[in-house]
Amino acid sequence: MKSTLTFAASLIAGLSLINAAHAHTGHVPMDYGLDGAPETYEPPRPNADGTYWWKGNLHTHTLWSDGDAYPEMVVDWYKQHGYHFLALSDHNILSEGNKWIHPTENRYTRGAGAAALRDYIDRFGEDWVETRVVDEIFLAEQRAVPPGGGSGGRRVPDEQLRLGEELVRLKPLNEFRQLFEESGRFLLIQAEEITDYIHVNVTNIIEFIPPQRGDGARETIENNLAAVYEQRERLGQPMMPHLNHPNWRWRVTAEDMFPVENLSFFEVYNGHRNSQNYGDETHKSLERMWDIVLSMRLGELGYGLVYGLGLDDSHNYGQSPLDVSRPGRGWVMVRSRFLTPEQLVHAMEAGDFYSSSGVTLSWFESDETGLSIEIEPEEGVTYTTKFIGTRKGFSPDSEPIVDEEGNVLPVTRRYSDEIGVVLATVEGTSPRYEFEGDELYVRARVISSKDKVDYYKPGDKEKAWVQPVRGPAAAEM
Ligand SMILES: [Zn+2]
Ligand SMILES: [Zn+2]
Repeated sequence: MKSTLTFAASLIAGLSLINAAHAHTGHVPMDYGLDGAPETYEPPRPNADGTYWWKGNLHTHTLWSDGDAYPEMVVDWYKQHGYHFLALSDHNILSEGNKWIHPTENRYTRGAGAAALRDYIDRFGEDWVETRVVDEIFLAEQRAVPPGGGSGGRRVPDEQLRLGEELVRLKPLNEFRQLFEESGRFLLIQAEEITDYIHVNVTNIIEFIPPQRGDGARETIENNLAAVYEQRERLGQPMMPHLNHPNWRWRVTAEDMFPVENLSFFEVYNGHRNSQNYGDETHKSLERMWDIVLSMRLGELGYGLVYGLGLDDSHNYGQSPLDVSRPGRGWVMVRSRFLTPEQLVHAMEAGDFYSSSGVTLSWFESDETGLSIEIEPEEGVTYTTKFIGTRKGFSPDSEPIVDEEGNVLPVTRRYSDEIGVVLATVEGTSPRYEFEGDELYVRARVISSKDKVDYYKPGDKEKAWVQPVRGPAAAEM
């Protein structure tokens, strides 16, 4: 309602041909009461049962660490592109406390600092953007800031701290969130990418968690998850850890993942082009690793499901020519009644979400008889759904991958092709899989005939990943 009033007000003020152009699209203009071109907002998709589909990204970088845009610019991008929630997850830092950057010498502006600042001022205005000139008082303040990350910001590098230089303040989340958040329409969530030998995102974190270290990938995952669950228990706030990009620098194998009992989420698709989602000749794809992990957990260890996230890991927002990790490549659609962090985390923990790089589902559900999916069709696009799972009695045996000299490589081992079998391939927009009785789990991947425009890899088609459900052969444990 507030946006509609703003819209009406700006029409009355005769401000806006652009607004008028949006009027017949059904989108709500969004200008935060600021000057400049109003943008659009996509309302959430309602379901018959009172829930909504909320679109969100849980892996986002800004200039608080190594993203190349000011945080409000990043949030603005997502809100304008149909998202309802966004977790800001910078490396080893929370966006709180004082942090100043040199607008052009900060290395993460990647040579485009002047453009980034100009765009920031154009969008939010001189009244919003905070700058200051380095003087003796500021130098003394900066010397008191501990180096490194954490809470309370980070120090400006010494070589950028020169008397008379102008710096820009990065606003903390709690200073800018009110510009964007609207009840039932848009939500910001504090997050952190704990950046250790491996990376773990924590969505809805309260207190900064430093990297916990560990001997090897598995122990490092375990130690970081333990720190998250300790904080969650102590502070009583649902927070959700997930393992980031397991194939980045080939740091994590399936054998590092499946024994970690409290691992519940990992990124099966990360839009950053260095994340090696599809593996190579020596390394398994993330989908193959997912099937190995699910089979070993459900069939051998009696552990729970692990859900697969599709996320951006966005760093590059358009000022610099870098496009290695643009926003909008992967997201989650979460089904819940309310748009609050608690409801979203609980829904995802219940598997009540799917991941997407373009395909939209209107519904999915499972019961003791099978798994049904409803795809929201797009004109001229066709859909193929593969139901994938492993049957009870599969061989859990594996053998190491060796190089030409016979040396064992530190990569995911080779497993039986009884793991991750394509149980059925169904064309059309209402695919359903009927359990046969011996499935440990079933998941689904929907592939459309439509090219993914801002692709992760050339040739990608738009996809959706439906979360695994337990089959009849894996009774609840
Ligand atoms: Zn990372
Ligand atoms: Zn990241």
